[in-house]
Amino acid sequence: MERILVSACLMGQPVRYDGRAKPTDHVVFGRWRAEGRLVAFCPEIAGGLPVPRPPAEIEPGRDASAVLAGEAHIRTPDGDDATRFFLAGAHAALRAARKHGVRLAVLKEGSPSCGLHEVYDGTFTGARTPGEGVTTRLLRDNGIDVFTENEILQVQGRLLDLEREDTPR
Ligand code: SF4
Repeated sequence: MERILVSACLMGQPVRYDGRAKPTDHVVFGRWRAEGRLVAFCPEIAGGLPVPRPPAEIEPGRDASAVLAGEAHIRTPDGDDATRFFLAGAHAALRAARKHGVRLAVLKEGSPSCGLHEVYDGTFTGARTPGEGVTTRLLRDNGIDVFTENEILQVQGRLLDLEREDTPR
């Protein structure tokens, strides 16, 4: 069975920086959960961060690739450098994906770890900017298709394609 890596907060786990979850109630998501397809994972917890924790954002004007290359940082509003936790979490997510043979992931939009299309812009003003989180970037760099919680039907289509390709003729 094709497994799907999922941000743990989307599965209802209270692992966000503010101690809350962001559960998704999409019916297809519920079916995957019942099938045992979903691998819940929180990169920030795996990387060693506590709950609750200060919010953190990628430095203004930099992106996830620069963070992964060691050329940019992820900081809290006080300027503390949290980069090493985010990098450790991203690599732990990749190991988990490989362990479960994952080719698809559904990650929480907007997060400096899990965002796909946009992240907060590093100013802690609530403004978003096009970009992705460091876990997302690392998974995509390693051939894993990443989607957001708003793209469940696209994931379903991709899942069917993969299972069809894997079926012996
Ligand atoms: Fe959710 Fe990802 Fe943030 Fe963990 S790191 S709380 S899984 S968005």
